[in-house]
Amino acid sequence: QLKAEIVAVGTELLLGQIANTNAQWLSQQLAQYGINVYNHAVVGDNLNRVEEAFLQAQNRSDIIIVTGGLGPTDDDLTREAFQQISKLEMVEHKATLDKIERYFKNHTSKMTPNNRKQARIFKGCTVLENNAGMAPGMKVELEGRVWFFLPGVPREMKRITTDEIVPFLRDLTGDEQMIKSLVLKFIGIGESTLEHELKDLIIAQSNPTIAPLAQDDGVVIRLTAKGASEKQLDELLGKTKEQILARVGGHYFGENDQTIEQVIVELLLKQNKKMAAAESLTGGMFTEKIISVSGASRVCSGGLVCYDTAIKRNILGVTEQTIQEKGTVSEACAYEMAEQIRIKFASQIGIGFTGVAGPDEMEGQPVGKVYIAISDKNGYKKVESFLFNGARSAVRKRACLKGLELLFN
Ligand code: ATP
Ligand code: MG
Repeated sequence: QLKAEIVAVGTELLLGQIANTNAQWLSQQLAQYGINVYNHAVVGDNLNRVEEAFLQAQNRSDIIIVTGGLGPTDDDLTREAFQQISKLEMVEHKATLDKIERYFKNHTSKMTPNNRKQARIFKGCTVLENNAGMAPGMKVELEGRVWFFLPGVPREMKRITTDEIVPFLRDLTGDEQMIKSLVLKFIGIGESTLEHELKDLIIAQSNPTIAPLAQDDGVVIRLTAKGASEKQLDELLGKTKEQILARVGGHYFGENDQTIEQVIVELLLKQNKKMAAAESLTGGMFTEKIISVSGASRVCSGGLVCYDTAIKRNILGVTEQTIQEKGTVSEACAYEMAEQIRIKFASQIGIGFTGVAGPDEMEGQPVGKVYIAISDKNGYKKVESFLFNGARSAVRKRACLKGLELLFN
């Protein structure tokens, strides 16, 4: 059983300025090939401590992946530290040096001596082409261990891993199977509820694997199947998708790169309906989302940011009575906003957002209190109230997302 370890180099990781997403992503990749990761190490930009971390990894792991510290600056010490423990000579990699020189020829900034550093590689290593940046990755074998050195920049790290390390792992594990993923997307259901509903499937998973993940705009489930042919992969994924949707299909809206706003625009197109939004606390964010989708011009007539009470009353036409008796943070106001924007913007559907984004309460209503209303020309109407947790930006984002969810349902 091969033991793998990931060593992330960078003081900013220790300071908590950035999260170690490189280790997370690499672990997911290794898991796909049945390689067990036993350790994640994080070490600052300090020569002795990086060396110490490398020695420890050399002692306890078979495959070691190092990210970060390969750049041109003085605090990038990965090369120096590994040189100390391996006693390998460093040489200049001609192709990389050419690449760096070409880059500076085509740009206005000047090449400085330390840029050459990025072309320095361990003698006898396998150079791993970096198709997303300057410094190449390296593969080095040292006393029965295999070391990979990768840049810290996530985009470059991922690219080299996919292009160069994954093929190596597949050879290593004799894995000749094909892999295919399918991402199922859900709205209006939390990660824990989703997991609960699918608990037995998740426990019994093997092929495809089932991984629920919370994201900014809802929850997704990533299915990853292994198989001998495209047809077999599609069958495996299709069957599991069916099982999942039989349980939580009510919250399903799309797959892979589809967004909820795209799906809504498509739905409205199909129904040949136009919508308009009256936005108070969301400040135009909702309309922005809809209009970001190409084709929106046929389904969205526009939006009004009516933040001030006077605008709600004088421009939009919320009644004085509602404002006086119910307040602007109320079901009645949200509904009148939805109805008025629908009428004034000559649309089939109107949606209204009002609430307290914070930091202070308003009209005796707590921070996070939000009302969202929908008014359809055919007489259908809906008003819902929410109490969202979090700071101002979180409340506004969640209100926007709920609006999309209401429109979808
Ligand atoms: P460069 O050639 O760009 O200097 P490098 O190999 O020296 O790359 P670092 O300087 O350590 O890498 O990191 C570059 C950037 O990549 C960091 O500013 C950080 O944003 C990101 N990064 C580094 N390590 C990680 C990590 N473990 N997880 C997520 N992001 C990281
Ligand atoms: Mg750097």
